Amino acid sequence: MQEIRRLPLRVMGTVSTRKRAVSEFLCPQCGNIVVKRRSNGRRDYTCSQACARKYRYDAYRAPRKERIGTGRGYWAVLRHDHPNASADGYVLEHRLIMEKKISRYLTKDEVVHHINGVRKDNQIENLLLMDANEHRSFHTKGRRSPAAKLSDDDVRAARKMYVDNTRVCDIALTFKISGGAASQLVHNKSYRDVS
Ligand SMILES: [Zn+2]
Ligand SMILES: [Zn+2]
Repeated sequence: MQEIRRLPLRVMGTVSTRKRAVSEFLCPQCGNIVVKRRSNGRRDYTCSQACARKYRYDAYRAPRKERIGTGRGYWAVLRHDHPNASADGYVLEHRLIMEKKISRYLTKDEVVHHINGVRKDNQIENLLLMDANEHRSFHTKGRRSPAAKLSDDDVRAARKMYVDNTRVCDIALTFKISGGAASQLVHNKSYRDVS
């Protein structure tokens, strides 16, 4: 570290009572002026372990972009000062935009949902604040099992046939599904998201 000025000899620490040469040093990472034994301060690059980690990170990584695409398809922006930034200093952009709108930080169990499903479309009109439970049920509600064979229109047509007194076995034949499946369907026990 850069030595600011030398101080009178003094006892440092509790191990030895010998007086040592000490100086004030400037930590290049946090900008604090710290008092250290001269030999240590001149040897160390920063004031503390924590600063050393950040310092190494900044020194050895390529300069980082202000905005990056994440592996999961979102935008993240560099915000070291944000309390919920990732270890490398990024925050998801859609969360930041929502925080700006509501003028507070989001909690861990708040989720910002993209209304049109496009994860990089962070216009405020496309964002909706939900809690984690709401969000989970929101996404499970419309989900269809991969085994589901019928389109929404098929389902509506089958239910209409049932209302018009078509027999369940004939509905099953029409849509090439089992009688059990047809029965479930017309009694609204399956495809419940179709109305
Ligand atoms: Zn420091
Ligand atoms: Zn969502």
